[in-house]
Amino acid sequence: MMAGIYVHIPFCKSKCSYCDFASFPDKLCYAESYMACVYREMSFRKKQLKDYVFDTLYIGGGTPSVIDESYIGMLVASARKNFSLSKDAEITIELNPGTVTAEKIEFYKKCGINRFSVGLQSAIDSQLEDIGRIHSAQDFLDCAAPLKGQNFNADVLIGLKGQTARDVVYTIDFAADAGASHISMYALTPEDGTPIYTDYLNGELPDQDEVAALYDAGFRRLKELGFARYEVSNFCKDGKTSRHNLNYWHRGEYIGFGVSASSCIGNVRFTNTFDLDEYFKCIFTDHLPVINSEEVDREGQKFEYIMLALRTADGLDADEYNKMFSSDFFKEYALPLKKVARYLDIRGARVRIKEEFLFVQNSIIIEFMES
Ligand code: SF4
Repeated sequence: MMAGIYVHIPFCKSKCSYCDFASFPDKLCYAESYMACVYREMSFRKKQLKDYVFDTLYIGGGTPSVIDESYIGMLVASARKNFSLSKDAEITIELNPGTVTAEKIEFYKKCGINRFSVGLQSAIDSQLEDIGRIHSAQDFLDCAAPLKGQNFNADVLIGLKGQTARDVVYTIDFAADAGASHISMYALTPEDGTPIYTDYLNGELPDQDEVAALYDAGFRRLKELGFARYEVSNFCKDGKTSRHNLNYWHRGEYIGFGVSASSCIGNVRFTNTFDLDEYFKCIFTDHLPVINSEEVDREGQKFEYIMLALRTADGLDADEYNKMFSSDFFKEYALPLKKVARYLDIRGARVRIKEEFLFVQNSIIIEFMES
């Protein structure tokens, strides 16, 4: 069975204004103990996952690049020791510019890391400052220089205060010129409890239609530059997709380690505690740090399959669906298919959301849930 591994490193230098991830800017001093716990948590899962071959390892956060690189080396070694990683496994690390040196990147490469995901967000310094990023656009260039020729992603945020279509295009050009072979363009979601939520309540952030226009401008530019969209927010050159994320969208299995990490193994979805102290306590007392676990029933599996597949440019394969669920997709969903027909492109067994509607896929997919 092929699957993915996710590891969450919850440390950051400071908290960005839009962030609601499990990340602790004031707890870097716990990095050594935390990583020891992650290695230990992996050993807890060794027996359960002995028949799996893992095709991807994704080291995310938080800011994995803020901790000493030797811990990352030990992390990759621990993953190899406890699990079977495929020979050409995709091993990704997230990098925050301003926490990276060329030496660090060399070290990561030596550990077998072969994909890098860099949080650029914007190439305009005033916007970076406004959302509390710790780096400048120049820091991104310094980080990207030793990554030239590597499989490397740049994250771009749309929906920032005062952001124009021109800014988005400028940021995309900036990332592409620096050598990114993959660009993730995410719309900012103002979450309740984050500082940026106040800006949202004050009407200072672009509204839905304005965000859609920013996305459109970005999408058009990415296309011009030869980036193919393979998922609503993900674009790549030369087929350099993120295998780790594709596994999520194909409803593949994955195991997560560390604070807040989630997993899906054998149709059971479970999540680790978001509390750092609680996490330490569990591992020190030889317990899994899982706080909730739920078996996805058949209806849930079907909906997840449809929802995830329709996010991708390849769309859904009705033949595969029929085989998986011993069903007839076109009969089962005749009603929603009729309702949203004008948004869909159906060719044989392949069902896709039309290119121009992919950004608003949520409102289309919901029809399948309500059927
Ligand atoms: S770097 Fe990422 S994880 Fe850390 S605070 Fe900023 S958005 Fe959150």
